[in-house]
Amino acid sequence: MSRRTKLYLIGIILVFILTLTACNKNVSADNDEKYESEKIKETEIQNKDSIKLQFENENFTVHSFDKDKECIEDLAKALDENYDAITNNLSVSLKDKVKVTIYPNIKSFHNNIGMQNAGDWLVGVAWRNEIYMVSPLNPGSQHTYDSLMKVIVHEFVHVVQFNIYPYRYPNRWMTDGLATYAAKQIPDKTIMKDLIDAGKNPSLSDMNSKDFEKVNGYDFSYTVVEYLVKEYGYETIVAMIETPKKMYEILGKSLDEFENDWINYLKENWGS
Ligand SMILES: [Zn+2]
Repeated sequence: MSRRTKLYLIGIILVFILTLTACNKNVSADNDEKYESEKIKETEIQNKDSIKLQFENENFTVHSFDKDKECIEDLAKALDENYDAITNNLSVSLKDKVKVTIYPNIKSFHNNIGMQNAGDWLVGVAWRNEIYMVSPLNPGSQHTYDSLMKVIVHEFVHVVQFNIYPYRYPNRWMTDGLATYAAKQIPDKTIMKDLIDAGKNPSLSDMNSKDFEKVNGYDFSYTVVEYLVKEYGYETIVAMIETPKKMYEILGKSLDEFENDWINYLKENWGS
């Protein structure tokens, strides 16, 4: 083979290699483009997903993103199972369907209710005829899918309360106590016993302060309402909610007497 032929052959091989590389480059560029366009499509879908009506029955409407649809059946079941007992006990018949709005995560829930600095414990609120809550599929650090099934019932109790007394209620131990009690958010027996035995149970006024959550207000207000239900019944509770100014008159006790009696009940039933 002459030198010229050798050079010619090497030239052909080089061109062939370069062409292959270029083809590979093209293939990978095509893949990148495909990947990019898939990414864009995904974002478009996410952007198109918005909070909209996903479920409706005779009592409720539920609004959420498409991606939170799969928890709605369980939420509706939790509400339906408790609807009659709560409205009957509190003698309320709701005129309108309750509107439930589900936010996809804690951050978006807190932003939408204007409480950006709230802790992860805040996962649901109610106002008038509406419930706003975080998705049970993404419940944050303090709650679980199952605990959110009780939170929606808790918020529903607040909706019913607004139908009895349509303003901000003066005693949080009554409103949150009733919601916690009726939603069966039962306090942990051992934790309660330890707190009560150590004299760390809050007063009624502690449970009306901004420290409600810090002083275990949900758990202790549960026991206040449990005491009221057992000793007086729901009719008295409804009357107390209707006319908060007369609540001690209705009980036939002063605030101090009432508080004393509740603490005795607490020690007897929840202490050791
Ligand atoms: Zn509440």
